[in-house]
Amino acid sequence: MSNSNVPENNKSQPASSAELIARTELLDMVPYQSARRLFSSKSNTGASSKIWLNANESSGPGLYQLSGQCINRYPDFQPDDLIQGYADYANLNTDQVLCTRGADEGIELVIRTFCQAYQDSILICPPTYGMYAISAENHGADVIKVPLINSDQGEMQLDVDAICQQVGKVKVVFLCSPGNPTGNLLSASDIETVITAFKGSAIVVVDEAYIEFAPEHSFADKIDQYDNLVVLRTLSKAFALAGLRCGFTLANSNIIELLSKVIAPYPVPAPVAEIAINALAPEQLLQTQIRAQESNQLKTSLSAWLESQTWCQKVYPSDANFVLFRTDYKDDIFKLLLSQGILIRDQSKQLQLDNCLRISIGSERELNLVKQIISQQLVVNR
Ligand SMILES: *Cc1c(COP(=O)(O)O)cnc(C)c1O
Repeated sequence: MSNSNVPENNKSQPASSAELIARTELLDMVPYQSARRLFSSKSNTGASSKIWLNANESSGPGLYQLSGQCINRYPDFQPDDLIQGYADYANLNTDQVLCTRGADEGIELVIRTFCQAYQDSILICPPTYGMYAISAENHGADVIKVPLINSDQGEMQLDVDAICQQVGKVKVVFLCSPGNPTGNLLSASDIETVITAFKGSAIVVVDEAYIEFAPEHSFADKIDQYDNLVVLRTLSKAFALAGLRCGFTLANSNIIELLSKVIAPYPVPAPVAEIAINALAPEQLLQTQIRAQESNQLKTSLSAWLESQTWCQKVYPSDANFVLFRTDYKDDIFKLLLSQGILIRDQSKQLQLDNCLRISIGSERELNLVKQIISQQLVVNR
């Protein structure tokens, strides 16, 4: 006789946030069993296969050769050396790391995994990175906006109370820290409050595309602590590999397993894996660290210069590789630089950012040219 008060759930562990939040059809879904997923190049099936006739590839090497691998074969689903390399870098286990085509694909995967189309919503905090809303709209998910608010330090920070009022109404919360286009880190305690509030009801994504410029503030080391936390990373910014299209999604293994069902069967091209593995080797990591430090120095001096200019009304604090500022001469500066072949970004269409421009930290020579052109040619008539 079964006791009717006890739910028929013989699992000893409570359900993870991943299980509770995911689209239900994904829980039992078996991902496409690609040839390389069934038998990876380093698979432990016992037999060391040398003759591969299971994936309709060409057996010959063809035109292009890589140092590590023959490119006539499909790549591994998630190449071991690459995942190990990033796991070491982020100080995580390999089952907490998924390699994607840029962080942008990570954004899309989280939405597709956790939002039921035409039913569920995401939450964003504008001004913020544009792809969260684009990916949501592409998938048919609604976008709830809880704008950032100005802190006492003149930074834009989370409206934690307003965000927490949306518990139960959204499936994914996107936080960007350091923020794009704002530049500053979000308060760590605010982020933790949000993650805790949405436990079991929403995935909280902390987008760390710029974390190498403020590495001590990463949330990656909190992945064991919070089962609804996802951290997004990329090789596009500090690693100087935007053309590679390589990013990483970091989360507990339950979440990574679900995302792995939704991602394409061969998401990591072999040449991408080879270059990314090199970029994660110790001597290259050191180069990236040095590049980030140099960028930070140039940023500090660009911010100071902007602060000293009469035409500049506000310089936003930046923990990233760009500086956002407000000026009544927004159009004049944009057009002046454009006429000299220099592109900066107009952010004035973003919520709360009227008259704001964003300059990426280029080389010292490039930034000096920007300063020189503005100093010599901007007509300030006030
Ligand atoms: C650049 C950027 C990304 C996208 O990075 P990719 O890896 O190039 O796709 C994601 N989030 C933020 C905040 C970014 O600025």
